[in-house]
Amino acid sequence: MTSLLQPDLLIFGGGIAGLWSLLRARAAGYSALLLESRALGGVQSIACQGIIHGGTKYALGGRLSAAARAIGEMPGRWRACLEGGGELDLSGVRVLSPHQYLWSSGNLASSLAGFFGSRAMRSRVTPLAREAFPPPFDQPAFRGALYRLEEPVLDTASLMGELARQAAPWCGHYDPAALDFEAELVKVGGLTLRPRRLLFAAGAGNAALLEARGLSQPAMQRRPLQMVMVRGSLPPVYAHALGASANPRLTITSYPCSQRSGAVAGGVSGNVWYLGGELSEKGVGRSREAQIEAARRELASLLPWLDLDGLRFSTLRIDRAEVVTPGGKRPDDIFLGRQGDLLVAWPTKLAFVPRLADAVLEALRDLAPSGGGETLPLPTPPLAQLPWEETTWS
Ligand SMILES: Cc1cc2nc3c(=O)[nH]c(=O)nc-3n(C[C@H](O)[C@H](O)[C@H](O)COP(=O)(O)OP(=O)(O)OC[C@H]3O[C@@H](n4cnc5c(N)ncnc54)[C@H](O)[C@@H]3O)c2cc1C
Repeated sequence: MTSLLQPDLLIFGGGIAGLWSLLRARAAGYSALLLESRALGGVQSIACQGIIHGGTKYALGGRLSAAARAIGEMPGRWRACLEGGGELDLSGVRVLSPHQYLWSSGNLASSLAGFFGSRAMRSRVTPLAREAFPPPFDQPAFRGALYRLEEPVLDTASLMGELARQAAPWCGHYDPAALDFEAELVKVGGLTLRPRRLLFAAGAGNAALLEARGLSQPAMQRRPLQMVMVRGSLPPVYAHALGASANPRLTITSYPCSQRSGAVAGGVSGNVWYLGGELSEKGVGRSREAQIEAARRELASLLPWLDLDGLRFSTLRIDRAEVVTPGGKRPDDIFLGRQGDLLVAWPTKLAFVPRLADAVLEALRDLAPSGGGETLPLPTPPLAQLPWEETTWS
């Protein structure tokens, strides 16, 4: 293979950041190509909870930060895409739920009522009357308050599958061991590229790519999680349990078992519950068994009427990769760094990716789009799998 390709933009990484940027750049007339070392759909993107945040979660500390306001427009931009009238056509993507719930129990309920009644929050959340409580909150034993939050939850397999389908003609699978950066050239096996701009959108892989270019900046941080998956006869739930801190104590998203063969193993119908929030952050130091035990305790404490018998459990260890922040806290916003012709991106959240792609396009503004029709003479990368399709259950 000996050929020279000269795309306007060469992207590394086929998660949400790389795929969205590729499609936006191509729609703007740029010849953009993407190299993926593993699978299209990403590492974090396919395994994320699919929540399209509008900033409310960031306001749970009791105030609306600047970042919370800035990301407030994200659900609207996503909705336009999902309806087929936005910057990308995502009308084929499955929305698991158009909204989520926030729930609180006991004495926390009254203090939250004041906060959610405030002018800033009123447009975001709707308090629900008891007779409108959906399962599993429609129980006499549930004494808390329930709020509906108009932020959708997406099926990440359907989202990443649709983006991968649209982007596939310009994506190539390659072995990073065969990668070489030589001045302005990128060599992959026998293939040589001279991109006008490079975008590292490889999530946790950005650190190694920067190192391969001889760079140590921008520095990356990892914030690890141990997520819990529960399979069995469970109702669909998309909800955050509010605790005493600014982070939800538990976040539950659901995935129908019947849709995915791996989740139906054992003939169980119902849903897979994917558990995040503080449980997954505090559970990083626990063994798998201890984390499953902690999840059982948390479910028994928050939803005591739930029958835990017959449920199967598993966990997933995964890192969130972001630009470094003082104290290792979550960045408030997207990050796009630029050093000459190199762009380095971390979206911080799946939901923020339209904002990241705006920044990428802004960083290409000084380039006239060449509109070239070049493709990569490499195999198309496979599709990433949902975590519960690949796991073993306890
Ligand atoms: C458990 C979990 C739950 C989350 N829930 C939510 C949520 O509900 N809502 C939300 O908005 N955000 C959520 N997030 C955050 C969100 O998932 C991430 O911010 C986002 O998916 C990051 O996308 P990315 O494209 O940067 O990275 P990734 O999805 O990790 O993709 C990076 C890609 O780069 C590839 N790669 C790595 N190295 C190389 C290389 N050398 N060359 C080429 N390719 C390479 C990888 O194989 C991968 O395909 C969650 C994150 C986690 C971990």
